[in-house]
Amino acid sequence: MNPAGAAAAASAGTTGRATRAFVDLDAYAGNVRVARSLLSPATELMAVVKANGYGHGATMVAREALAAGATRLGVATVAEGTRLRGEGIDAPIVLLGPIDPTEARSALEMALELTVASEALLDAVAEAARSLPLTGAAGVHVKADTGMRRYGATPDEAVGLARRVAADPTLSLVGFSTHFAAADDADDRFTREQAERFERCLERLAEVGARPRYAHAANSAAALRSRRHDYDLVRAGIALYGLRPAPSVALAAGMKPVLSLRSRIARVIEVGPGETVGYGRTYRAERAERAALVPIGYGDGYRRGLSGKGWMGIGGRRAPVLGRVSMDQTVVALPDGVGAEIGDEVEILGDPAAGAPTADDLAGVLGTITYEVTTALSARVDRHFLRGGVPVAIEGMP
Ligand SMILES: *Cc1c(COP(=O)(O)O)cnc(C)c1O
Repeated sequence: MNPAGAAAAASAGTTGRATRAFVDLDAYAGNVRVARSLLSPATELMAVVKANGYGHGATMVAREALAAGATRLGVATVAEGTRLRGEGIDAPIVLLGPIDPTEARSALEMALELTVASEALLDAVAEAARSLPLTGAAGVHVKADTGMRRYGATPDEAVGLARRVAADPTLSLVGFSTHFAAADDADDRFTREQAERFERCLERLAEVGARPRYAHAANSAAALRSRRHDYDLVRAGIALYGLRPAPSVALAAGMKPVLSLRSRIARVIEVGPGETVGYGRTYRAERAERAALVPIGYGDGYRRGLSGKGWMGIGGRRAPVLGRVSMDQTVVALPDGVGAEIGDEVEILGDPAAGAPTADDLAGVLGTITYEVTTALSARVDRHFLRGGVPVAIEGMP
């Protein structure tokens, strides 16, 4: 590339590196439509795009979600919401988790809806709403802790907070929510208990005329398992990325993984008998064998726990990781009969038919969940967004 071209690529935030992620926007939109089709027409769908869209790239995914039928976006931090606003997204955005009271003002300035579970945060929101020149009432969701024992107010406190929001003309009670601790569990007794506590809160609010616009509780697991907990709004993250919330929960028919990860061989290594590969010399070749260097490592989110255990797809076959994953590089064995050369494509995560592991496979090897596999993908990896199989945008290091 000439210097001007290099500068243009840099300003577009892309690196031109061989190691890149592909985000299939058609697959994502298809998953949103499938999710939408499960719900009754009166139930709305929130697309959860926190943690940079579970590693997929929040802005592109958010736009796709809204075009495919989602009506709200869920984020975790004010910065995540601010970034979406900066990209021109004006749909309702909900901060799902706790923020510091000192952040209330910046959240309202970005027209983010807050999730409130304490008097301290509600005080800060009310104060900010009074002092800012907002065009309408500030949107507030009150969260009840019905058994997760994470974020939320006790049911009694939550009812009190919601009444306070409903009575304050500068605030609008957009939502009343809770979160399930074990919606992926085949035994749904605890989920039902949580739902009963939640519904008791809703009844108490109805008795005093403090009705939230949306009651909401379901995550992907709850929504995939039944229609029992949809209420007015379903908050779906992982299923929209085409990944199961847990091995015990099946995706709906037609849902497909969105993310794949590829690179190219940077060196073909002839490893002699008795030689070792990589740091710590944990892999020793018994016989002469061929290996390939792939420029990805734990600095990219290709976790070190895959050392000696993971595999990649080369030439349609499985190429096992040899020795330790380094920060920027990994060596894999070339399967017998695969005549690989520098520049050949490697599928690091993706289609098992290409020899590659799925996110589920990598989660299994790492003893974790798919959520952690995709969110681990670092900013160093360019995201190539595909429509009809063709890149329509590339997003690099911010
Ligand atoms: C992340 C999150 C979700 C989405 O969960 P998935 O399992 O990815 O569907 C829903 N609700 C809240 C409060 C969350 O924080």
